[in-house]
Amino acid sequence: MSLKENLCRCGIYCGQCWAYRAVIPRTASTLKEMIVKDLSYLRDTDLDFDFDEFVQNLDYFAKMEPCKGRNEETTWCDVKKCSRIKNDEVDNCLLCELFAECERTEYVRGRYSYLFDHVKIIQEEGLGAYLEGEEKKARDGVRLPDIRDY
Ligand code: SF4
Repeated sequence: MSLKENLCRCGIYCGQCWAYRAVIPRTASTLKEMIVKDLSYLRDTDLDFDFDEFVQNLDYFAKMEPCKGRNEETTWCDVKKCSRIKNDEVDNCLLCELFAECERTEYVRGRYSYLFDHVKIIQEEGLGAYLEGEEKKARDGVRLPDIRDY
């Protein structure tokens, strides 16, 4: 899969997103597996805690579908309604000269203000080098909740 698949149309790098990387379902599955293996011991440690119900609740998280990022069909995303995006005139907003003043990117600009630096990086180093840098950050553990403004 090309690294571009990990970059959403709005310019956010989905590769750094928990929902896209399915972190919650994978973590819930791992925790469930650990608890089930030790269930008889755990039941003995705390008679008041309902471990069976807890395991059932973990199933809810374990079955969460990961976000499909740029391929996710949404009704709420203003960027995906943009004719430039729909017609593939631009791949993503970071490559669009209207990014800084576009009404459709207002939310993204406000919450992920670091994207202005990313526009510069793409202009100076090219999209390929930029994507490799973002993927490396993802591998190093960078996640969107840690770097966004709010
Ligand atoms: S016009 Fe706005 S939404 Fe459309 S590609 Fe450009 S910055 Fe993105």
